[in-house]
Amino acid sequence: MGTHSRMEKVSKCGSVNECLGELMKELGPLYRHKFNAEWQRNQLYHLKRNLPEDWVIIVMDFAENFLCKFQDEPQSAHWAYRQVTVFPAVVHSRCSCGELRRDNLVFLSDDLRHDACITQVFIENILEYVSKLRNMKKVLLVSDGCAAQFKSKLPFLFLARSTLPHSKGASIEKVFFGARHGKNDCDWCDGAVKRNVTRDIASGAVTVNGAQDMFEHCSRTMSHSEGPGECLHKVQRFFLIEPDQVDRKINSSMVKTIHGSRKLHHVRVQAQDELAIRTLSCFCKPCMSEDYAHCLSAAHVPGWQTAKLKFAGSVPFHPQDHEDEKVDCDTLQSEEDSAHIAESEYSDTDFAPSESPVVAFEQEVMSILRNASYTGLWEFLAASHVLRRPILSVF
Ligand SMILES: [Zn+2]
Ligand SMILES: [Zn+2]
Repeated sequence: MGTHSRMEKVSKCGSVNECLGELMKELGPLYRHKFNAEWQRNQLYHLKRNLPEDWVIIVMDFAENFLCKFQDEPQSAHWAYRQVTVFPAVVHSRCSCGELRRDNLVFLSDDLRHDACITQVFIENILEYVSKLRNMKKVLLVSDGCAAQFKSKLPFLFLARSTLPHSKGASIEKVFFGARHGKNDCDWCDGAVKRNVTRDIASGAVTVNGAQDMFEHCSRTMSHSEGPGECLHKVQRFFLIEPDQVDRKINSSMVKTIHGSRKLHHVRVQAQDELAIRTLSCFCKPCMSEDYAHCLSAAHVPGWQTAKLKFAGSVPFHPQDHEDEKVDCDTLQSEEDSAHIAESEYSDTDFAPSESPVVAFEQEVMSILRNASYTGLWEFLAASHVLRRPILSVF
């Protein structure tokens, strides 16, 4: 992998104290990361339960590509499967009757480049769909922090250029989970949709040789939407995105990197080419009414900062303005570093907002100790640190 740093096993001599010091240095980013992941999940969880009627939460992610296998396929076919990009998005909103409503949208495409440009096409289609639900004031696009797709200068440029069709003044914001590749709302797609298609292929009911076939089959067998005047709180729809719908004329070399984008978890557009960024999200009452100066979580969630979008060369006002620019959307190098710790399954337990990362870490260590099902060097050192005394005996 060229210049990427890589883990290596090395022998070292030293005292337990030195070992402890090094361990604590390594643990610093780890408990910050864990705190961020839990904070973001809890904020979104509570927001979803108390969703205002003119807000919408959209959780999205790329699923694994679907492999178009055939029934009774010749043996040689197995290494030449066609693939289909599958991009599920779950739209949480409030129905006019007041109940929570969930729309599962599944985008299928033969374009296999999972980059910011195709992601933007999906987002534009989602915004179009959302604009028909009801008059929205705030749209939250929630995803992991993958730089190539969601969290870097190019997706931020697209955000700055996005509008909600047919509704003036709606705020479109990006919210990031604190961890990558975790469990999220989109996982249903891998199970339900792909399993059904695979089953129907195996039974000979359908032949799927690309996104078009898959789209037609899914729309026919798995799509459900409400009739006029009907109240349906679970909707599932499929969309086909043709490769020529993906505009790759805008590329990341046109925008300058936003300092600290790896650490931010919430972005909104403040003015023309000006973003407001926050290292964590907060949906307390004052924040929800945009009275950010009175944020109830101010002790843990730093306020908004301003980040200007800066361009290399001419300023693209809208993607369409740049017909002549060079083609090819850079495959961005991940701005996230190696600390991608798998996100734990979300639990319903209450999260005390007064917890600092250090307290959260200490509680975590104590809960492992109390549990006592396994104890290794890590736990001894961590326990010794938390209890601030040496561990003299172990049973
Ligand atoms: Zn309803
Ligand atoms: Zn707040």
